[in-house]
Amino acid sequence: MSRSKLRLTVKRLWASALAAVIAAASFSSCEGAGGAQKRTVFAMDTLFEQTVWGASEDLFTKTAGLLSQLETVYSHTDPDSELYLLNEAGNGKISDDLKRLLDIAAEVYEASDGAFDPGLGLVTQLWERSEGAVPPGDDITAALAASGYGKVSFENGEIHLNGVRLNLGGIAKGAAAGQLLYECICSEASGGIISCSSSIGLTGTKPDKSKFKIGVRDPDGDGNEYIATLELSDCILSTSGDYERYFISQDNVRYHHIIDPATGYPAQSGLRSVTVVSSGVSGDDDLFYTGAVTDALSTAVFVMGLGEPSLKLLEDFSMEAVFVFDGEIYATDGLEDSIILTDGGYSLKTAE
Ligand code: AMP
Ligand code: MG
Repeated sequence: MSRSKLRLTVKRLWASALAAVIAAASFSSCEGAGGAQKRTVFAMDTLFEQTVWGASEDLFTKTAGLLSQLETVYSHTDPDSELYLLNEAGNGKISDDLKRLLDIAAEVYEASDGAFDPGLGLVTQLWERSEGAVPPGDDITAALAASGYGKVSFENGEIHLNGVRLNLGGIAKGAAAGQLLYECICSEASGGIISCSSSIGLTGTKPDKSKFKIGVRDPDGDGNEYIATLELSDCILSTSGDYERYFISQDNVRYHHIIDPATGYPAQSGLRSVTVVSSGVSGDDDLFYTGAVTDALSTAVFVMGLGEPSLKLLEDFSMEAVFVFDGEIYATDGLEDSIILTDGGYSLKTAE
C-alpha cells in the first residue's frame, strides 16, 4: 500500500463528550414523517428497525422470514440455534449459512491478525456471566488458552471446534443488516434505513431527496445525545463502543464487552468507539458479506486502536472510519464531506 493511499484527513473534535453512532431518526411509530413505513422485528437478541419509503408490503414479509431464518442459525442465546448446538456438540456438519459467515469471520480474523476472533466464546462467556465483577485471573488465563479461531479445523466436511467456543456476536448482526438492506434495494423502495443495534444499512434518499443523518453518539450520554452527524447513503456502517455493555469497578475502571484476544481483558486501545463505513453499495453486491465485514472490522479496529495497522486493514477492505477518543474524533478522508459537527470548539486536522 502506498503512503499516499494511507493519507488521512483527520478531523479532531475537541469535546468533553464522546461518541458512537445512532440513527438520528426516530423509529418509534409505524407511520413516520414523509409517509415512511416502519417495521420492527426482534431477532438475534436485538431489534431490527426498518424505515422504508415506497416499498410494497412484500418486502416486510420477506425480511421477517429472513430474520427468523437467520435467527435459527446464528442466535447466541437460543438453545435450538445451529450455532448454540454446535458449541455444545463441539463438532459436526454445518449448514451453508453457518459456513458462509464463518468464512467471512475467518477472513477478518486473518486480516486483523486475530484482533477480531470468532473463537473467543469461552472468554466472552466468562465476562458475560461475571455479573458486574472481574472474573478471577486464573479463569481468564485458562479460558484464553483454550480459545482462538486458529484451533478450529475442518475435516471430511465437518467442523471440529477442538475445545473452542464460537461467538459471532461481533459479526452476525451486521451480516443480517446487510442482507435486509439488499432486499430493500431490490424492492421498489426509493429509500430505506435498516437499523439493528450497532449496524445500519442505508439506501436511496428521504422523500425530499436528502441523505440520511446518522448521529455520532456521546457514549457518556444517555443514548440520545450526539456530538456530530454523518450525512450518508448507500452504505453500511457499524459501531463498536465501550458504552454498550459495561460495568464500572469500585476503583473506577470501565470493563466493557470488547475483548482484546491478546489479554482476555477488555481492549484498552484508548478508543471509546469506532464506526466503520463501507464504500458505496448497490443491488449488485453481496451485502451479507459487506455487512458482516463492516461489523467485524468495527470490533477488530476497536481492539487495534488508531494506527497504521488498523488504517491498512480498513483500506484493504475499502472502508472508512470515525475513531472517537476522550475528547477527540478522527475521521478518514473519505468521510471528510460527510461529517457535520454539532457543537463549537472543534478543530480539523489533516494527517499524512
Ligand atoms: P461489536 O459490538 O460488534 O464490537 O461486538 C462485540 C461482541 O462481540 C461482544 O459482545 C462479544 O460477544 C464479541 N466479541 C468481543 N470481543 C471480540 C473480539 N475481539 N473478536 C470477536 N468478537 C468479540
Ligand atoms: Mg462488530
